[in-house]
Amino acid sequence: EGDRRWELTVHPLGPATRLVRLADRSNLHAAERARVDFVANASHELRTPLSTLLGFIETLEDANAAEDGPTRARFLKIMLGEARRMQRLVDDLMSLSRIEAEKHSPPQTQVDVGQLVEEVRRATLTGRGEDGGRIVVELADDAPAVTGDRIQLTQLLHNLIGNALKYGRAGSAVTVGVRGGGGMLRLTIADEGDGIPEEHIPRLTERFYRVDAGRSRALGGTGLGLAIVKHIVERHRGRLEIQSKQGQGTTVTVLLPATQA
Ligand code: ADP
Repeated sequence: EGDRRWELTVHPLGPATRLVRLADRSNLHAAERARVDFVANASHELRTPLSTLLGFIETLEDANAAEDGPTRARFLKIMLGEARRMQRLVDDLMSLSRIEAEKHSPPQTQVDVGQLVEEVRRATLTGRGEDGGRIVVELADDAPAVTGDRIQLTQLLHNLIGNALKYGRAGSAVTVGVRGGGGMLRLTIADEGDGIPEEHIPRLTERFYRVDAGRSRALGGTGLGLAIVKHIVERHRGRLEIQSKQGQGTTVTVLLPATQA
């Protein structure tokens, strides 16, 4: 509503009662607002699986449900899924805060990104089994070494390749390119998925921003992957570009400064 910012919060008070609060937040600074939003979003993302878990635990406390083998097995499976979702979220939140804390200390290790891509490709395919997707690596001879943080660059590759597999069309390939040029290493991750509507692209690196939240959750996403990637790229003084054509696919490009000879 123009320059005014409103926050709508819904507090469940019981099965059929909700308290709705509308707060004027126009006076908060952008950075402060982002922080408040982040904490609110993170809490909400954690509370949802937690509520589900508690509900199932309470039901299982009832002897009848616990003694019915198939019911118990089904409940445990759901509970495991919800607990894993919380674990992914907490892992991503911790990564994000660790990377942010290291923002001002430039990485110092010589990293062979081509080799890293190969390692991540192997780990990804092992983790996913037979039809986990196809990953094609195109490694050019002119790919320079970069001065980086091995662990963070591995995570960057996991997140971007993971997204390309998640949002790519089943059975289609993900192509990872590593090449040089202009004193930079150019890493591209391309998929043949549905693509991303243009208006969403500028916001994808915001924490918890998703084009389709239901789809992301169903695929095990936390909404933090690209925010983590953005912070890693910034720490490496690189650049991140996302290009996408609806119906054709998405290409994410990461440019990293080559190690000076
Ligand atoms: P998530 O855990 O939801 O995948 P990310 O931060 O990694 O979170 O990505 C944010 C959103 O960007 C995703 O929910 C999805 O809507 C969109 N997205 C990311 N990568 C792709 C891709 N390769 N193809 C289509 N959409 C993508």
